Amino acid sequence: MALKAMVFVDGNWFYHSRQVLFNLKNEDGFELDYRRISSLISEWLSASFKKEVDVVRCLYFGVVQTNKLNCNSAKQIAFYDFLARECSIDVITSTIDYKSDVSISEERAIGISLSAAVLKNCVMPDSFDIAAFVCGSSDYIPLISQTRMLGKRTAVITMRNFGDMQHSSTQLHTKNVFTDCEPIFFDDHVDELRLIRQEQERECKSCGAKEITTWAGPEFYCSNCRSGYQRKR
Ligand SMILES: [Zn+2]
Repeated sequence: MALKAMVFVDGNWFYHSRQVLFNLKNEDGFELDYRRISSLISEWLSASFKKEVDVVRCLYFGVVQTNKLNCNSAKQIAFYDFLARECSIDVITSTIDYKSDVSISEERAIGISLSAAVLKNCVMPDSFDIAAFVCGSSDYIPLISQTRMLGKRTAVITMRNFGDMQHSSTQLHTKNVFTDCEPIFFDDHVDELRLIRQEQERECKSCGAKEITTWAGPEFYCSNCRSGYQRKR
């Protein structure tokens, strides 16, 4: 029987450090295929644990920032919506209102929400065998250790540091007492993560017209609406 894995993604970390992957490819139009992330992680974990691993849930933790200068929360929400609707990812968001929540940081909000979800799922009988942490901060080490003490196997999926792109703690770069396999690095799998663009018919978000496009992003606008928008600018 396959081992069951749950994946816990620190979305703030992933969103910011995926730039490493773009820089590594240094290629026009390089995009990540978010739809395949769960199945790729299942393949990588299967190779690491030398046993079939089925990702039963992929939980992505993010924040929605309101009343923040120069921050477009509609864009964040559209991205989360895309992950939830089209990529089979469970998105768990914390809202930070910059008018009233002056003491909270995005990292802390995500860290606490992620930790609570891990511990909740750990005590649910038979929910999963492996907890895979997609993160870069050593702040997660106590959580990973506790998860392991609760009888789960643990894995870390992170990115190496390149030049001034220092996105992860080197404490996560080797197998440790708190993990059951060597760390998995996104940068080793950059070609598997590449979005292969395919022509498809999509509906314009503004006027509803259908058009053939290779655009796979969360929101699609038809050529008429795009050129109308350009003229208005
Ligand atoms: Zn349109």
